[in-house]
Amino acid sequence: MTQAAISLENLTVAYNRHPAVHHVSGSLARGSLTAIAGPNGAGKSTLLRAIMGELKPAEGEIRRAVPSRDYGYLPQAADINRRFPVSVMDTVVTGAWKRAGAFGGIGRAERRKASEALVAVGLEGFEARPIGSLSAGQFQRTLFARLLLQDASVIILDEPFTAIDSRTTQDLIDIVLRWHGEGRTVVAVLHDHEQVRQHFPQTLLIARELIGWGPTEEVMTDQNLKRARALAERWDDNAPVCEVPA
Ligand code: ADP
Ligand code: MG
Repeated sequence: MTQAAISLENLTVAYNRHPAVHHVSGSLARGSLTAIAGPNGAGKSTLLRAIMGELKPAEGEIRRAVPSRDYGYLPQAADINRRFPVSVMDTVVTGAWKRAGAFGGIGRAERRKASEALVAVGLEGFEARPIGSLSAGQFQRTLFARLLLQDASVIILDEPFTAIDSRTTQDLIDIVLRWHGEGRTVVAVLHDHEQVRQHFPQTLLIARELIGWGPTEEVMTDQNLKRARALAERWDDNAPVCEVPA
């Protein structure tokens, strides 16, 4: 039997007592490559934040065979502040902190590794550039370089390719596939169903409740996708339809 890196047992995660993810059970095998798919507001980011330990379960539990300090996490782009006046190099070397500890110091060896990571993501020569001056694609490459430096065994990516040019997307997919080849456990939220089908052997499809979790071709069926959309339309019913008073 394959060993689980992370198991979810009847997991419910709530904001102010309103559940955003309900009763999810299943596990991520060590070394698996899993896409997380589902409509907007389906609870994908919430699920990842719970796995990262940022949100506590309202019910159920998360069991981790790999301690969470060995997780690399890329939040959704909207949650990352780019206005700090820091360089590409400074951003990448923070990837080493998780291993060395913030006071372990960043030595010359780490800087050399950071430069190598920048070459690997196609950003050679960008070391001194302020992150605020980068395009969306270049910034995402920088964050992937930071993950390379972090060398985590579980890598969690929240919409890594949203609003990113296709050339960058292709380069970063290659890095994801390399991580998978190295035996790391990788999870990524994706919107592009073609990318999911082409590259991700496993899929977790969620619409606040779990729709399916297993081999991609068994989960990404028309029937399951239709069910996910139907559930999402029900949430939209709660939104105000018209701002103008009757
Ligand atoms: P997804 O990533 O699939 O688009 P999210 O996990 O971001 O979905 O959100 C799931 C639900 O939880 C949505 O209804 C969203 O509005 C709500 N939600 C997300 N973050 C918060 C928050 N910080 N406080 C309250 N509700 C939230
Ligand atoms: Mg999200």
